Amino acid sequence: MIIAIDGPAAAGKSSAAKNLAKRLGYLYLDSGALYRAIAWKLLQEKINPESQADVEAASQLIEIDLRLKGEQTEIWVHGVDATPSLRQPEVTRVSSIISTYPGVRKKLLSIQRSIGSEGGVVMEGRDIGTVVFPEADVKFYLDATTPVRGLRRHQELEQKGIPSDLEKTTREIEERDLKDSRRHVAPLKKSEDAIVIDSTPLNLDEVIAQMVQEVEKKLETRQQGSIQKLK
Ligand code: C5P
Repeated sequence: MIIAIDGPAAAGKSSAAKNLAKRLGYLYLDSGALYRAIAWKLLQEKINPESQADVEAASQLIEIDLRLKGEQTEIWVHGVDATPSLRQPEVTRVSSIISTYPGVRKKLLSIQRSIGSEGGVVMEGRDIGTVVFPEADVKFYLDATTPVRGLRRHQELEQKGIPSDLEKTTREIEERDLKDSRRHVAPLKKSEDAIVIDSTPLNLDEVIAQMVQEVEKKLETRQQGSIQKLK
């Protein structure tokens, strides 16, 4: 099966997707890390992120390699492990700008589709259920209120040793969500057939429990469908 998880920044998509994938024995892909990898390389190359033509031309040449290390996926860019740098605030800021460019999205679309082509994947992002895999077997839209998401991201950054100011971090995710939902190509929006989970009052285990329940429901309907066919 292909399981798509979309939603705004810091709604808990990565933790939920990672855990769900582990439970199912599936591959996990954080599609945001691909946008961040491009942003990281552009920053290294000192390419102006506001210049769409320069960014689109440069991004075609960027080689991204995903390496599975146990439960972790490392993102290598031109032979360098970029993973430790991908959560830096500057990379976050630039990833949100360059994700509005069709040339960048097109390049990453084919990478994401080839990873999911065999199924057995939990992929999370902003447009997985709407654009990358509109035929995904189960789609979730994970949301939470802005203050809760701000606090979660703030704590996550601090834990990683990245200095963060709660107010600034909350404002940053709000601005990024606005940009992600207003862009013309593949905007952040709930797919019509997505199951909405509001994680505001829930902890991670409760979110995963709801997801597992939905996935099991889907598997049961499928099994019943194939039994019917055999009859
Ligand atoms: O998910 P994450 O916060 O790491 O994503 C970083 C940025 O990458 C987002 O703000 C968004 O602009 C972009 N992105 C996207 N489509 C996706 C995943 C991420 O546009 N499927």
